[in-house]
Amino acid sequence: MSAAADAMSWQDDAARDLVRNAGDRFALFTRGEGSHLWDGGDKRYLDFLGGIAVTSLGHAHPVFVDAVSRQAATLVHVSNFFATPPQLALAAQLKRLAGTGESGRVYFGNSGAEANEAAFKLARLHGGQDRPRILAMRNAFHGRTMGTLALTGKDYMQAPFLPMVPGVEFIDSTVDALEAALDDRVAALFVEPIKGEAGVVDLPEGYLAAARELTARHGALLIVDEIQTGAGRTGDWFAFQRDGITPDAITVAKGIGGGFPIGALITFGGASELFSPGTHGSTFGGNALATAVASAVLGEIEQAGLVENAALRGEQLRAAITAIDSPLVVGCRGRGLLIGIALSRPVAGAVVAAAQQHGLIINAANDETIRIAPALTIGDVEIDEFLTLFTQTLRTVEDALLLDQPASTTPTEVPA
Ligand SMILES: *Cc1c(COP(=O)(O)O)cnc(C)c1O
Repeated sequence: MSAAADAMSWQDDAARDLVRNAGDRFALFTRGEGSHLWDGGDKRYLDFLGGIAVTSLGHAHPVFVDAVSRQAATLVHVSNFFATPPQLALAAQLKRLAGTGESGRVYFGNSGAEANEAAFKLARLHGGQDRPRILAMRNAFHGRTMGTLALTGKDYMQAPFLPMVPGVEFIDSTVDALEAALDDRVAALFVEPIKGEAGVVDLPEGYLAAARELTARHGALLIVDEIQTGAGRTGDWFAFQRDGITPDAITVAKGIGGGFPIGALITFGGASELFSPGTHGSTFGGNALATAVASAVLGEIEQAGLVENAALRGEQLRAAITAIDSPLVVGCRGRGLLIGIALSRPVAGAVVAAAQQHGLIINAANDETIRIAPALTIGDVEIDEFLTLFTQTLRTVEDALLLDQPASTTPTEVPA
């Protein structure tokens, strides 16, 4: 079959067989290595999305491959009636990296949403009858299950699924808004330290420190969603650590498994004593295979100095992107290797499509923001390749928009 006919057939299969919860798939990928992907026609792409901040070590990293195959050949699953060595090792490792001290505890699930569901139940256990209120931020993202959707302050996402789980109130991401909303009937505040899905939007400087003080004063838990920002991505193991605070709980997923599905709730201090036998659980959660792989991924991030690399390469990329001479690029947001490239016009979809034609995978976090979240392993070679492809991409979109023409002749249509 010709490459073109083959290309048609996978799109037909996808359109016929997959639930229509997402738009058309952009490509059919068949293999990956390091920061590169290949599609069915064997075209090579530079992957600067990392499966949305997931493939921390890139694709087919030997440490990942070795951990999967060794553990698969040893022991995969026994249920949570039993413990396994990889599970205990990962719990201890996460406590150490998060800095919980002795009193920390870890609950394992299989995704970010499951980690946040556990955090939601933690908030209810803390709140009981006296504290029915839970605060979360407008425009933050916490997941797609009914509980985590209730925490996600985006009307258009909630609208088709009303009524929501009750008790959640949304506030602006300012200290003033938090101060006004907090009282002694609040069980918890959920914070996304950099709003990834909203377009890589940073919190105001000092917000987390103020949130820690205010929530403590009112006896509310501070729960930090580190699902996108954790595992070294921002240049710290976890984004909250840059602010020098101690939260009551954090949630992690995405990057900790390097592509293997796993999520976790990590509790600090008194919050560690809220769950009791029978209050929560997951059949798959924390199985030996998932935890062995995550343990190996985190071990490699630590040993290879990839947290420092994320900080360094993030700075390097930010400086280079800001220096690109294009009327489309107006600046960068985010930290480390979670970067939002702000565009001067709402053409992010067109930029993503043009990038793919040039062999570059990036993402439109919203109409005016390109999100990049490459593997933490990237170096000069990948950065140079990115800059070349991204500059070509911008030229293509500028040409399509006739950006060098007088404004009056600029068409409103953008390429698909
Ligand atoms: C991706 C994400 C989630 C949801 O994780 P899933 O694994 O998709 O369920 C929750 N919170 C944040 C901040 C995320 O980026």
